[in-house]
Amino acid sequence: MSTKTIDLTPDLYAYLLKVSLRENTVLKKLREETHKLSQYVMQISPEQGQLMALLIELLGAKKTLDIGTFTGYSALAVALALPSNGKVVACDINVEWTNMAKQFWAMAGMAEKIELHLAPALTTLQKLIDHGEAETFDFAFIDADKNNYVHYYEAALTLLRPGGLVAIDNVLWSGEVANLANQDKDTNSIRALNEFIFKDERVSMSLVPIGDGLTLARKR
Ligand code: CA
Repeated sequence: MSTKTIDLTPDLYAYLLKVSLRENTVLKKLREETHKLSQYVMQISPEQGQLMALLIELLGAKKTLDIGTFTGYSALAVALALPSNGKVVACDINVEWTNMAKQFWAMAGMAEKIELHLAPALTTLQKLIDHGEAETFDFAFIDADKNNYVHYYEAALTLLRPGGLVAIDNVLWSGEVANLANQDKDTNSIRALNEFIFKDERVSMSLVPIGDGLTLARKR
């Protein structure tokens, strides 16, 4: 027993997956296909997708944001948990990755629930705000370029309804956030957002050590 978060050895992690991972077959296929890409580490872990799906159910979410879509795993995991009239607004700039995403969304019967915006996410988010969609989203997942994390967080908070949830990926950054010798731009951007959210009285928050670290912040 422990009063701190347990270390997941490979055996224990395998056990965790064995007794808890209920991965949709298309999600599994998508994960296997993505693993063939050199950028595959950008994909979230399957147990994190399952946690996000559970949060969607708990929120009774209908309208969500996926900021940094990559090959579409997080958007699909969320879409599968949404009701039939639910919607994911997905933001990415990469044609090749999102074409792959679209194939798998269609395969899972979720294509109509996911609206892809191929443009810089900050442009898409500002358009949504300008079109009067502030405070209409239930959930936002942030997993795009780390330099803009603080800006994505602000835009997501504007778009979320009170009680809505923002989830921010990679907040532990393979442990590099605690390695002060590492002063690269991405690492410092993540540190800056972590420190900002910690002090942000507009949200209740928890940093969950799942995957590469996932901060959950509920708009008050
Ligand atoms: Ca990520």
